[in-house]
Amino acid sequence: MTDIEQLLLSRIRDVADYPEPGVMFKDITPLLADPAAFGALTDALAEIAVRESATKVVGLEARGFILGAPVAVRAGVGFIPVRKAGKLPGATLSQAYDLEYGSAEIEIHAEALTADDRVLIVDDVLATGGTAEASLELIRRAGARVAGVAVLMELSFLGGRPRLETSLAGAPLESLLTV
Ligand code: AMP
Repeated sequence: MTDIEQLLLSRIRDVADYPEPGVMFKDITPLLADPAAFGALTDALAEIAVRESATKVVGLEARGFILGAPVAVRAGVGFIPVRKAGKLPGATLSQAYDLEYGSAEIEIHAEALTADDRVLIVDDVLATGGTAEASLELIRRAGARVAGVAVLMELSFLGGRPRLETSLAGAPLESLLTV
């Protein structure tokens, strides 16, 4: 493990049985509170954005906003939020997806992306991949291309990576840490 991976891992707190029994929640608030770790994370994700020639960073509500916004600034590209339904003021595209119990819906401003855009999706944790899959679908429907998905941590036992294979269509899924 590299020094940076070790630093990032050491600033993620495991919280058992949150928000419900059986879930090990990965709390990134200690990482956000440490400027060296937050800076290293921002640099690592921005490097991926630059390498993949991304023209936009899409952040997923809510922790994807915190990570994605500085990444976009560092990479010199715009930041576009994907929000839970009903929060964006303009005309939106929306995408429903299944959760373990029930379903959720996310939205993007319909005019936020163009056919010239290459989009890097940023989030903190990839779990089942449902959120990322729905976001990839939104980007495709908005007419833009996918530069990749970049997350701080991938929970590999939940199968997000194989689930995203079709929607990624060859674009990379980068996780800085895998458990
Ligand atoms: P999923 O759609 O299952 O890949 O879930 C991804 C979303 O849920 C991300 O936006 C994460 O922030 C959040 N999430 C899922 N599982 C966890 C976990 N164990 N710890 C922290 N966040 C999680």
